[in-house]
Amino acid sequence: MKYQPVIGLEVHVQLLTDTKIFCGCSTKFGAEPNSQTCPVCLGLPGALPVLNKKVVEFAIKAGLSTNCSITPRSIFARKNYFYPDLPKGYQISQFEDPICQHGWLDIAVDGDTVKRIGITRIHMEEDAGKLVHGELSGPGDGSGVDLNRACTPLLEVVSEPDLRTSDEAVTYLKQLHQIVTWLGICDGNMEEGSFRCDANVSVMPVGSNTLGTRAEIKNVNSFKFVKQAIEYEIQRQIDLIEDGGTVVQETRLFDPNSGTTRSMRSKEEAHDYRYFPDPDLVPLVISDEWINRSRQELPELPEQRRQRFMDELGLPLYDAEVLTASRALADYFEAGIAAHSNAKAVGNWIMGEITRALNDSGTAIEACPIAPGQLAELLTLIDNGTISGKIAKTVFDEMWRSGKAPQVIVEEQGLVQVSDGDAIERMIDEIMAANAGQVDEYRSGKEKVFGFFVGQVMKASKGKANPSVVNELLLGKLKG
Ligand code: ADP
Ligand code: MG
Ligand code: ZN
Repeated sequence: MKYQPVIGLEVHVQLLTDTKIFCGCSTKFGAEPNSQTCPVCLGLPGALPVLNKKVVEFAIKAGLSTNCSITPRSIFARKNYFYPDLPKGYQISQFEDPICQHGWLDIAVDGDTVKRIGITRIHMEEDAGKLVHGELSGPGDGSGVDLNRACTPLLEVVSEPDLRTSDEAVTYLKQLHQIVTWLGICDGNMEEGSFRCDANVSVMPVGSNTLGTRAEIKNVNSFKFVKQAIEYEIQRQIDLIEDGGTVVQETRLFDPNSGTTRSMRSKEEAHDYRYFPDPDLVPLVISDEWINRSRQELPELPEQRRQRFMDELGLPLYDAEVLTASRALADYFEAGIAAHSNAKAVGNWIMGEITRALNDSGTAIEACPIAPGQLAELLTLIDNGTISGKIAKTVFDEMWRSGKAPQVIVEEQGLVQVSDGDAIERMIDEIMAANAGQVDEYRSGKEKVFGFFVGQVMKASKGKANPSVVNELLLGKLKG
């Protein structure tokens, strides 16, 4: 039998607010354990939560950017369970009437085909604390709890079960990741858990209308692991069914070392969260005016910017995609074309030399030592014939190293291109005299030898001869 995999993702997005969602404590990472706490996030009796407005603003932005409708009156709920990192014994979340609903993202599958993936809901919630085991936990070697992270704001983005392959899932996830980092509401750091995902996976016979029983896989904290975990899980379920077994609804844990998933708890052991509206928080009312204001404050999103780069600048889709990989990269490109009109050339240099140098040195585009204006100056030197494209790469490396302006480097190192016909002619004459055999070969019809002469002239000029002048003069002289 043939099986159709079905995947739905639940993504937790940690928000970049300065303070926590229901108190004024700092959210800064890496502080002394329990130094960023107060009666509210410690869950002390009688302490009352107050909603951080910034969290609501970020949630609205995320919703508008993923085509959701914003719920005019949304409510907070208590999700009850016991765990030592949760001092109140419940997590404040949203259950009925979450802040954003009924959205979607269009993802590219197989090149040009676009597929719409539904977003069921986006809700706000608080994070729990962290258990610390071993030496770091304090005196003795037991376990401790660090509540600095308790009450840190999260958005949970829940997709419809619309994804069909691991590649679609990763594409969707990358797109969502790009949107939240682009909006500046999340740092997107997956290793540190700022953007984390649970994958729900099931399989059903091809042609069936009824979804199979799903397993929910936790702990997948990189795009690569998401792909691995989903593929492993699909195969596991198919093998199980083929062997006459049935898939049970359960939570499974991904093990990155083995690339496999294993059972964590079954549905029977699952928590009954006993959700109910939190009586300490009033319903959140969001006016149309507030929504409109947020809409106006939205930056141009990656999708729109890609389209503009293609329509207005004539860039091919591939270039537009690469140059909008992050907002900072797109900004760099735009600053470059403000100073140099050839968008294709600026784009090529950014996708080529700049990207290579950034990768080699592990530098982020935000810290690029060559300013966009300087890159533009370098391109202008090529355009006006001062240096060749080849020499420009040498100048580029020196700009990267020294931070000097391209003109200064060209002058200091005497790299100005030789376009002077007389000087080039003299070189050609010497080379032809020294290689009479090759001249004869060329003249007897072996035109491939031409490349040899070009190479010799470039060598003699230390790469500085203007290639088009060289070509023209050589052709004339060899033809004799
Ligand atoms: P829960 O809160 O128990 O995890 P939800 O109904 O909120 O349950 O679903 C969570 C996720 O599971 C959603 O992303 C949804 O798309 C996905 N999902 C639901 N049913 C299936 C299924 N049969 N196969 C794969 N994914 C599913
Ligand atoms: Mg779930
Ligand atoms: Zn606090």
